[in-house]
Amino acid sequence: MVSNPARARVAVVGSLNMDLVARAPRLPQPGETLAGQSFAQVPGGKGGNQAVAAARLGAQVAMVGCVGADANGAQLRAGLEAEQIDCAALETSERASTGVALIIVDAGSQNAIVIVAGSNGEVTPATLSRHEAVLAAADVVVCQLETPPDTVHAALAAAHRLGKTVVLNPAPATGPLPAQWLPLIDYLIPNELEAATLTGLPVRTPDEAAAAAAALRNAGARNVIITLGAQGVLAALGDAAPAHFAAPRVSAIDTTAAGDTFIGGLAAQLAQRAPVGDAIRFAQRAAALSVTRAGAQPSIPTRAEVDAS
Ligand code: ADP
Repeated sequence: MVSNPARARVAVVGSLNMDLVARAPRLPQPGETLAGQSFAQVPGGKGGNQAVAAARLGAQVAMVGCVGADANGAQLRAGLEAEQIDCAALETSERASTGVALIIVDAGSQNAIVIVAGSNGEVTPATLSRHEAVLAAADVVVCQLETPPDTVHAALAAAHRLGKTVVLNPAPATGPLPAQWLPLIDYLIPNELEAATLTGLPVRTPDEAAAAAAALRNAGARNVIITLGAQGVLAALGDAAPAHFAAPRVSAIDTTAAGDTFIGGLAAQLAQRAPVGDAIRFAQRAAALSVTRAGAQPSIPTRAEVDAS
């Protein structure tokens, strides 16, 4: 494994949410009030999760985002700082409350989720202009789709202009990506549902993923890595033939944040100039460990744990 921590800098431009998780015997019907069994308040948001993953997995991480001037915001900031994540570019909105995800989980582990973006909607192109030095100091810049589209576009464009390795996790995906985004992205990393949404093609197997990756490359994406849960990863890198990377076999108990762990681990490795195949295998080992543990951020392993796995 390549290790050059002095260069391993990752900037994450993205969302931070407080996840409010209630467990109930079943999901409520419209109009129904249901007694739940437990409640937990857990730091989340794809941006926050990926920042934590990249930090635990070996990178120096800076977070570009926005929380509200409230208790949830203070707790999210403190959580990132406890991971040694640089929060100088994490702003505090005076008008919007911190993003929240209201999550109900039933006895069969099905869930229903309402996300209120709140302060994540205040991450604007102007935010990026104020903190361009953070992007300039990074080796790898990671974005998702939980901040406004104009912001994502501006982040991709700035990172590309600055010569950074640009990673987009197109989550949540609602349709094809704008065509002008694709040349700005070095690594486009959807899961199978997102790849299907981006392309309109079925993506259930590595072969179907290869077809979807080919469609995304034809549309202008340089490198496409589709995560397929326990089926591993389909990577279409440059002009090379698509390659399937099988996932390590583990007994999964909770796949929450598997994708975020994969993205953070991959970004940390790319920042250390690891060859992309090695970076994928490392990220898969990290994600495999995460699915053997409960929860989102608590399940994300450290680099030492991955090295020992
Ligand atoms: P998401 O969490 O976005 O839905 P995936 O479910 O595709 O993402 O998981 C991301 C990566 O995590 C996979 O490519 C794989 O490497 C790893 N992973 C997920 N589920 C498992 C599993 N059951 N066993 C081993 N690895 C897994």
